[in-house]
Amino acid sequence: MSKLPACHFLPSESIEREAQRRGDGEWLGRQLANSPRFIFVWRGNNLFSVGPEKRPLALELSEADKVIGPIFLGLDGQGTSFFAANLSGPQSEEDALALLHLNAKMARFISLRHFDGMLSSEERSLLFYSRSLTHWHEEQKFCHRCAHPTLPEEGGHIMACANPDCATKHFPRTDPATIMLVHSQDVCLLGRQASWPKGMYSTLAGFVEPGEKLEDAVFREVKEESGIEVRNIRYFGSQSWPFPQSLMLGFFAEADAGQITCGAELEDVRWFHVSEARELLVKLASRFPHLDTIARRLIRHWVEESV
Ligand SMILES: [Zn+2]
Repeated sequence: MSKLPACHFLPSESIEREAQRRGDGEWLGRQLANSPRFIFVWRGNNLFSVGPEKRPLALELSEADKVIGPIFLGLDGQGTSFFAANLSGPQSEEDALALLHLNAKMARFISLRHFDGMLSSEERSLLFYSRSLTHWHEEQKFCHRCAHPTLPEEGGHIMACANPDCATKHFPRTDPATIMLVHSQDVCLLGRQASWPKGMYSTLAGFVEPGEKLEDAVFREVKEESGIEVRNIRYFGSQSWPFPQSLMLGFFAEADAGQITCGAELEDVRWFHVSEARELLVKLASRFPHLDTIARRLIRHWVEESV
């Protein structure tokens, strides 16, 4: 990459993933030769412009063919191709920026977990998509069946074992996790981890275990974390959570507001009156300002229903 890259903001509309074209090597080659835009990730951090309004950036490079391990993301409404690429080599942010002919006065790599600006849902979706796939590439460099290196196929959406006797194809993983608002008349059950800011509580959550139905995971997690048994479990909605590769599945569940036994993973669990839960929503909004988290949406929906 010999010249300064052209920095673009992300498209305002959702991109089309064009999954059916990922297997067409010639077509992908043409996309790479036709001024594609790259969303770079360094150590799980995404590239943003600097200044008062930090905006996520996509770069147009003069030598796109030199990018290692490009992952095809899709096309915007104008037919421009988007690729994700992981900068796994550089040890420092300065070196990562220098590799792109940028410096800290022009751009920064920022963690989406700690990003304090605002993002549109389309921007967030594209950044989450890029972060998930680049993380998976980092983790899937070797076949876990035979330990040989893997090579990307299907525009980077498959990592295939290079050992012809094995030839296992590895696919990106998404780990399901349940997150639930347990309620009983005018109180709801919320917990906090010791590492969270003072006074911060949120909905209970936990990963789905192998062989488990989602409803069983909700029941088990609530019992483990609070000693409370729930009933009438109802699905609410979902949210991608690429830290590193979760899909949060939100539920409501009813319970009797009985005695709580706090589980080992949490510092505290207790019942919150609807008025306290309303106040907590303000604190939760400051935690991930660019994201209307599913925890917030669950609590807000219950508070509004309880009015
Ligand atoms: Zn293998």
